Amino acid sequence: MTSTLRTPAAAGDGTVPTLHHWAGGAPLEGTSGRFSDVTDPATGAVTARLPLAADDEAATVVAAAQAAFPGWRDTSLSRRTQVLFAFRELLNARAGELAELITAEHGKVTSDAAGEVARGQEVVEFACGMPHLLKGSATENASTGVDVHSVRQPLGVTGIISPFNFPAMVPMWFFPIAIAAGNTVVLKPSEKVPSAALWIAELWREAGLPDGVFNVLHGDRTAVDHLLTSPDVASISFVGSTPIARYVYETATAHGKRVQALGGAKNHMVVLPDADLDLAADQAVNAGFGSAGERCMAVSALVAVGDIADTLVDKIAERARGLRTGDGRRSCDMGPLVTAAARDRVTGYIDAGEAEGATVVVDGRTATYDAAPAPDTDGGFFVGPTLLDHVRTDQTVYTDEIFGPVLSVLRVDTYEQAVELVNANPYGNGTALFTNDGGAARRFQNEVEVGMIGINVPVPVPMAYYSFGGWKNSLFGDTHAHGTEGVHFFTRAKVVTTRWLDPSHGGLDLSRL
Ligand code: NAD
Repeated sequence: MTSTLRTPAAAGDGTVPTLHHWAGGAPLEGTSGRFSDVTDPATGAVTARLPLAADDEAATVVAAAQAAFPGWRDTSLSRRTQVLFAFRELLNARAGELAELITAEHGKVTSDAAGEVARGQEVVEFACGMPHLLKGSATENASTGVDVHSVRQPLGVTGIISPFNFPAMVPMWFFPIAIAAGNTVVLKPSEKVPSAALWIAELWREAGLPDGVFNVLHGDRTAVDHLLTSPDVASISFVGSTPIARYVYETATAHGKRVQALGGAKNHMVVLPDADLDLAADQAVNAGFGSAGERCMAVSALVAVGDIADTLVDKIAERARGLRTGDGRRSCDMGPLVTAAARDRVTGYIDAGEAEGATVVVDGRTATYDAAPAPDTDGGFFVGPTLLDHVRTDQTVYTDEIFGPVLSVLRVDTYEQAVELVNANPYGNGTALFTNDGGAARRFQNEVEVGMIGINVPVPVPMAYYSFGGWKNSLFGDTHAHGTEGVHFFTRAKVVTTRWLDPSHGGLDLSRL
């Protein structure tokens, strides 16, 4: 079966499709009467209307997931993993379709969209190993005639609330593991990029997943609040900005749920004087401007140590000026920002940085773009690569997460000052050190208070079989995404102590524990 979803860009006949929720293996029309617009960031055109769920619609979707849970929980592990393998095969064959959908709503260049699908696929492949991952332990004769064993069981209905910047990969950090472990899922995607979730729902149906195991609920705070407070939802996996992550964590834990809430970031790349400066400049550009800086692992602060700063800034500026910004479908290096509001927010930060004394070395506000604006639009939400030098830690371009193609250079004299600066930042998602000194690298990875570290690797996203998560304001809860921590999150432990009575045993003994 081919997906019934058209890419919004392909609608082409002047009409704008109205999207739907997905519950019980079928589309569910929105009835709240509330909608938001989905736009193509490269043209500024509205491409779809998205229904925003009212509380009763959210309850309907959760009920579909709840109804499917007992059957899926009791489906054999081998059958469950067969469905996972089928999903993997279908996604391999059709990944390009999903990448196109992502580019049409997010704006990132198509090769980058394909990369995010590939990273999500790695979690599917990890989850295909669920029979091994769910093995418990057993102890024979723990006490005379007593055996003990442990199992891990699914939680029930699991809620996933995802951000706009990875429409496929971030949900895929969670749902392959949740589903393989026997849970059912309600995914609440970002209202800015809703189509990837619906495409994935159709793929699951094609892969043979029983109806109701994977559901999609569209909406805003009303939908989120339903998931956070419903007694029928067992857990919440959230990814988004820090203020909302904190709210989600506090609200959902107060309602008795297991919660992992991943928040925002300010990722530093520290360059020591002995580093290969060409390599460092290449990687600073890749990590600062890839996906227009709309990555939670983007490098937004470069800390130049010692007297290399002028040379490094020149090298980065030269590379940044050579980038082609434009429509992600036109083989550009960098696409637009997701919305007009995001664009205006980013240019506002550049204005503020300049006013606060930063040097604008490369100015994305005046860049030119390779794009074909749609009629009656403002022509796409572009900001070119921007390089700010001489940034201080009290300036808003440093204190705030900008989430755009803005790379700030801070200058320090010593390694110690660099680590102090990174550790003083309230975020702790990712960081990278560029050096040729193994001893310095070893010290850095030990001393820095950040969850994911790269040594000469600018965007150190862990493989699916490790776990993804930051420290401090970048994660609320104690369990990171995917890897064995993901399996742990989506299951709960049970320990069984067994004694088969021997005729020679028995009788009363109140002293036994
Ligand atoms: P966001 O916080 O605005 O939205 C995330 C989700 O929360 C969306 O589904 C949205 O509909 C919902 N939401 C928004 N406002 C809400 C409210 N008031 N109440 C309840 N729900 C609400 O984030 P975004 O702009 O979509 O994504 C960008 C942010 O996500 C950045 O801060 C980025 O660093 C972060 N992010 C973090 C990671 C990570 O792994 N730590 C990964 C990707 C993105």
